[in-house]
Amino acid sequence: MTTETHGGHGMSLTMKIMIAMGVGIVVGVIFNAINSAFINTHIVAGLFAMIGKMFVNALKMLVVPLVFFSLLGGVTGIGDVRVLGRVGTKSFFLYLATTALAITIAILLASVIGPGKGFDMQGIDTSGVTGREAPTVWDVFANIVPTNPIAAFANGEMLQVIFYTVVLGIAVLMLGAKSEAFIAGCEYMNELMMKIVAIVMHFAPYGVFCLIAKTFAEQGIGLFVPVMAYVITLVAALFIHLFLTLPTMLKVLAGLNPITFMRKMRPAQIFAFSTASSNATIPVTYRSVTERVGVNKSIASFCIPFGATINMDGTAIMQGVATVFLANVYAIDLGLGGYITVIGMAVLASIGTAGVPGVGLVMLTMVLGQVGLPIEGIAIILGVDRLMDMIRTAVNITGDAVVTSIVAKTEGKIDLTVFEDPDAGVVDDEEVEMPHGQAV
Ligand code: ASP
Repeated sequence: MTTETHGGHGMSLTMKIMIAMGVGIVVGVIFNAINSAFINTHIVAGLFAMIGKMFVNALKMLVVPLVFFSLLGGVTGIGDVRVLGRVGTKSFFLYLATTALAITIAILLASVIGPGKGFDMQGIDTSGVTGREAPTVWDVFANIVPTNPIAAFANGEMLQVIFYTVVLGIAVLMLGAKSEAFIAGCEYMNELMMKIVAIVMHFAPYGVFCLIAKTFAEQGIGLFVPVMAYVITLVAALFIHLFLTLPTMLKVLAGLNPITFMRKMRPAQIFAFSTASSNATIPVTYRSVTERVGVNKSIASFCIPFGATINMDGTAIMQGVATVFLANVYAIDLGLGGYITVIGMAVLASIGTAGVPGVGLVMLTMVLGQVGLPIEGIAIILGVDRLMDMIRTAVNITGDAVVTSIVAKTEGKIDLTVFEDPDAGVVDDEEVEMPHGQAV
C-alpha cells in the first residue's frame, strides 16, 4: 500500500500536478503581460510548445494500443455476449441522456441570463469561418464498421477500433481453449501499457506546466472582455453540470460518494484541462477509474474509450450556450422547435466526432447551419474558445467516468474497498522504479 506522501520528494503526484498548473497560469499571465518578442518566440512558442507537444504525443501514443489490449481483455474477461450487449446498451443510453440533459440545462440557463443581447458586431472579422455539413444518423452508424482495421488504428478512429476489437474478442472467445495463450499475452500487454502510463504520468508536472503556461501566455485578457456574458454563462452552466448534475446522478444511480469520486478524478481532470483532448486523456481516465475508483477493467476498457468518443457533455453545453448567445446577437428567435433541433443535433454530432481539441467549434457549425443561424458568428467566440475547450474537456471526461461508474455499479463490477481507500492507485516513485533500486 502506498501513501499520498510517499516518494522521494514527500509529495503526491496529484499535488505536484496541481502546483504545476497553478505556476503555469501565473507564468503564462506574466509572460502575456511582458509581451517580449524573445520570450514569445523562443520560450512560449519554442520550449513550452515543444515540451507540451511531446507530453501530449506521449499520451496519444498510448491510446490505441491501450484501448486495444485492455478491451480485448475486457471482452474475454466478461465472456458472455449478452452481458457485453447489456453494458453497451446501458452506457450508450446513459451517454446520450447525460449529453441531452447537459445541453437542455445550458439552453435554459442561457435563456434566463440572455447573453449577447445588444452585442455590437462592428469590427469583428468573420472571414475565414467555414461551416461543415451535419452527418446523417445513417452515416454515423455506417462508419462504425471499418473497411480496413489497420487504417482505423493508424488514424485513431476510436469507434472503429472499439468495434473491431469487440468483434475480435468475441471470436477469440469462440475459439475456446485455443485462445488461452493469446488472452494471457493480451493481459501482459495491457499491464505493460499501464506501466508506460505510469511513466508518462511521472512527467505530467512538466508537461502540464508547459501546456498551461503556453496557453495563458498566448491568451490575453483582452479577448474575453467583449464576450464576457457568453463566458460567464458558459462557465456557470459547465459548473452546474460538473458540481450538481453529475454528482447527483452518481449518488442517486450508483450510491457513490461524489466527493470521494471527484477527489480521485482530479488528475484526469487536470490532464483533460491542459490537453483539451478527451482522447489523449483516455489512458489517465482509464487508470483513475480502474485503479482509483475501483471499476472493473472489463467495464472501463469499453466504457471509457466509448465515452471519450461519443459523450461530450461539456461540448454540448458550449453548443447550447453559444446558440442562444448567437441567436441573441443576431436577434433571431429560434423558438421551441429550433432549440429542440439544437439538442438533437448536438447529441448526434457528439456521437460522430472524436474528442480532440477544438472539435466542439466544428460541431457548432453543424448545429448553427441546421437552425439557420449565420455560421460566421463563430468568429465572435473564437478568441476565447481554447480556454473554454479546456474547461469543457474536463467536464467531458468527468461525464465519461460518472457513466462508467454507474454502469459498473449496476453490473456489480465495482470494488468498493478500492473506492473507499484514499491511497488506492496513487502513482508514486516506487511504481516507476527500475530493478536494483535505480529510480527512473
Ligand atoms: N476538446 C473536446 C474534447 O476533446 C471537444 C471539444 O469540445 O472541442 O473532449
